[in-house]
Amino acid sequence: MSFSFRPGLEQVAAYTPGKPAPVGADGLSAKLSSNENPNDPLPSVIDAIVKTFPTSVNRYPNMATPELSEALAARLGVDAQSLVFGSGSVEVASQLIHALAGPGDEVMYAWRSFEAYPILVRAAGAVPLEVPLDAELRHDLDAMADAITERTKLVFVCTPNNPTGATVTTNELDRFMQRVPKHVLVVIDEAYVHFDVDPKSPTGLDFFARYENVAVLHTFSKAYGLAGLRVGYAIARPDVAEALRKVALPFGVTDLAQSAAVASLAAEAELQVRIDTIVEERDRVYAALKSAGLPVFPSQANFVWLEAGESTEAVNEVFRARGVSVRAFAGSGLRISIGSAIENDAVIEVAGLAAAAHMNIQTNRGPQ
Ligand SMILES: *Cc1c(COP(=O)(O)O)cnc(C)c1O
Repeated sequence: MSFSFRPGLEQVAAYTPGKPAPVGADGLSAKLSSNENPNDPLPSVIDAIVKTFPTSVNRYPNMATPELSEALAARLGVDAQSLVFGSGSVEVASQLIHALAGPGDEVMYAWRSFEAYPILVRAAGAVPLEVPLDAELRHDLDAMADAITERTKLVFVCTPNNPTGATVTTNELDRFMQRVPKHVLVVIDEAYVHFDVDPKSPTGLDFFARYENVAVLHTFSKAYGLAGLRVGYAIARPDVAEALRKVALPFGVTDLAQSAAVASLAAEAELQVRIDTIVEERDRVYAALKSAGLPVFPSQANFVWLEAGESTEAVNEVFRARGVSVRAFAGSGLRISIGSAIENDAVIEVAGLAAAAHMNIQTNRGPQ
C-alpha cells in the first residue's frame, strides 16, 4: 500500500545540514558549514548544565521557563508575557507561521535567505513568496512592499541575512514598515545580530516597541554558542505570544537548555569578548578572500558569502581538499562560517587556489 501525503509536500526539500568536515593533508578538519560558535561553552555555563543534569532527565522540563523568562525580560526590558520560547528559533519561526498562515496564505521572505523558511512555510500548507535580493545581495524592501497582497500574513526580514551577511538599515526598515499593512506581521530574524557592528543597522527591539505589527526572533545558538541545546525565542505582543504558545511543541525547551541560557545571560560580558574576536576574525577573512580575488561580500554575521555561481563546486573542492567543510549552494555560491583562528587560517591559506579555480571556470565560460 502507499499513503497519500499532504498536497504540497512533494515540493518540500528536506533541510540540508552543514556537512561534517573532511580531513586535510595535515589532519586539519574544520566544520565551517553551519555558522556554529567555535568556542567550547564557558565554565559557568557548563556548571549550570551539570548542576541541572541529575534532576532533569527523568522529568519533563518546566514549560513555563520561569527563570529564563524572568532573566530575559529584565535584560531586554520587555514584559515576560511577550517572550515565547522554542526548540531553537527555527521552531519559533514555525510557531509564527502556524499561528498566522493557513493553507493558501502567503508568507514572504527575501531569496536567497534562510533555507528553513521555504521548508517551514510549505510544511504549514502556506505559500512562499520569495522576493529576490538586489545586486548587492541585500533585501529589496521596496520590491517586498510592492509584492504584499491580501493573502500575505507574515514577512520575514533576516538581518544580517543568512547566507549573504548583508543587513538592512534602520531607515530602510522604517520606510518599509510605513508601507506594510497593519494586518501583516513583520518578523525580524536577528539570529546574527550580535555580530552586527554597523551603526546604521536596526535594533529589532526598537522596532518591536514602535510598531504593533513587529515580532523579533533571537537564538542562543550562534553568538551564545548553544546550538546543540536548542533554545530560541520570539519577542511578540501579548496576543501574538498567546497564539504562539498554542501551536508550540509541548516541552520543546529542556531544563538543560533553560539553565544554560540563564547562565549565558549572566555571563554576557565574557561572551562579548568572544563575539568581538569572531567579528575581528570575520573582517580578517573577508579582507584576505577579497585580496585573493574571490567574489566575497561584506558581512555583519559570523560567516562570509562567496557569489561563485558556476564555479561553486570547484571552489568547494579546494576547501574540502584543505579539510574545510563550507556550505555550498550549487550554481549559486558558498557560505563560509568563521571558526577558530587556525581554521580561518586554513581558509585564507587556500584562498588563492580557490580564486584560481573560480577564475578558470569564469574564463572558460567565455564572454556571454
Ligand atoms: C541559525 C539561524 C536561526 C536559528 O537557529 P536555531 O538554532 O533554531 O535557534 C534562525 N534564523 C536564521 C536566519 C539562522 O541562520
